[in-house]
Amino acid sequence: MAAWCLSLHADYACRRSGACCTSGWPIHVETERLGEWREARASGRLAFDESGCPDGLPFQAAHDLPPGAGAVLRMRESGACVLYDGCARSCAVHRDLGHSSLPTACQHFPRRCLIEPDRTSVSLSHCCPTVARLAFRTDVAPAIVRAPASLVGHMTLEGLDAREALPPLLRPGLLADRETYRAWEAFVVRTLALDVTPDAALAAIAALTNELVRWTPGEGELSRRFEELQGSERFSAMTVLKFNGVIGEHRSAPWDCDRPIRQFLAAHAFGNWCAYNGRGLRTVVRSLEAALQAVRAEAARACASAGRALDEDLLLEAFRAADLRLVHLADPVALAERLGAVEGPER
Ligand code: SF4
Repeated sequence: MAAWCLSLHADYACRRSGACCTSGWPIHVETERLGEWREARASGRLAFDESGCPDGLPFQAAHDLPPGAGAVLRMRESGACVLYDGCARSCAVHRDLGHSSLPTACQHFPRRCLIEPDRTSVSLSHCCPTVARLAFRTDVAPAIVRAPASLVGHMTLEGLDAREALPPLLRPGLLADRETYRAWEAFVVRTLALDVTPDAALAAIAALTNELVRWTPGEGELSRRFEELQGSERFSAMTVLKFNGVIGEHRSAPWDCDRPIRQFLAAHAFGNWCAYNGRGLRTVVRSLEAALQAVRAEAARACASAGRALDEDLLLEAFRAADLRLVHLADPVALAERLGAVEGPER
């Protein structure tokens, strides 16, 4: 099946920052890996610092394991995985047994996939500092492109599996079709590529979306209605740029922090799980507004704790902290339900 990604992420490669191996979050190990690792350790093919592992094994039993998992990785007090070699910044399993012997979560990180019947959308989590750095790039504009083999070729992609699901909802009680949803998604990414404040971009996206969700089947094809709206002067790029002139004064940093924030938001727009977990397009837009609010809150916290004005390093940390909360700690279904309040009361 074809896999797609954001242009910003197409050349992502792990730079061995170690952030994912030292974060302290629980990592499940699939049952079939346990025997392989036991055997590799007994035969001396897998070597790691066994201190803190009473039975010499890097995993332990746990309650509430998801299907397919047999244990969780052991962590040191610092939050580092016992298989992580901090000096060499490498993983013992990766080094001794190869990438395919890693737990699925480790193989996937920082990928976040949406799997549909005919395509897989691969976005990346900014919790990884290497990904967070990609939000600052200026050599490529955000666009949806084919994912190269270097990003997706060496693993079975997992994520939100919507292969059996109906298309995303336009609004509560009314389905969109996948083609129009994707055209709308591409419009959102394109709007976030315009040189405007994140607020102006989101306001333009919300304005078109609020019109689109009023569509009724009696008006003809949804795709035609979307093209009409997109082609109208009210929602043209020129209008967004003019509108930006009205609210652009709110730029808060002496350097251009708008572009990285818009690119962060584009990564949230692409392959957004609220398309299937939510009750309409406005929920997806709301999730982008929530992501912007989360970045601003984390940026304010980072500035207060560092005692200096926002700079690239602090914004990068804000991206990481925001995605830790939004992508890794929040329950995606509960989050979509909460954001879905924008659609009105459940009927
Ligand atoms: S198993 Fe390897 S890749 Fe996974 S968290 Fe541990 S050290 Fe990192």
